[in-house]
Amino acid sequence: LGRLYSIQGTVVEGKKIGSKLGFPTANISVAEEFKLIPKDGAYAVRAEVGGHWYKAMLNVGIRPTVDGLNRVIETHIFDFDQQIYDQPIQIEFVKHLRDEKKFDSLDDLKAQLKKDKVSALTLLEEY
Ligand code: ADP
Ligand code: MG
Repeated sequence: LGRLYSIQGTVVEGKKIGSKLGFPTANISVAEEFKLIPKDGAYAVRAEVGGHWYKAMLNVGIRPTVDGLNRVIETHIFDFDQQIYDQPIQIEFVKHLRDEKKFDSLDDLKAQLKKDKVSALTLLEEY
């Protein structure tokens, strides 16, 4: 088993849509300007913040259901409720769960996020 692919960065502010959906996401500004970023989609990941590692899921993409403008990397950390803006964050990618897709409504997106959470937690439990 090889080492997991990882990225480092800082948590930046976004448009606060994650919280409205019940899935706050730490939006990541990647530290290395030329770092290659994995393909768009939802991932099961491990996230390190404040010296602790957490199970988390992560989305890379343009968020077609929400605005579809710029590519964003954002992670929802499980069993976590802290304000971490401007803090360093590190991510290890464990598995690509699904491609990014445009949902008909924010409710549909939210339903998918709940499924993604189950998939990610199951996977990270075994890992
Ligand atoms: P933004 O658009 O600024 O990213 P969100 O609505 O996505 O706002 O909320 C994300 C912010 O909420 C994070 O940057 C972090 O400070 C905080 N937060 C609280 N709980 C979590 C969590 N479980 N996972 C990620 N961030 C969280
Ligand atoms: Mg966010």
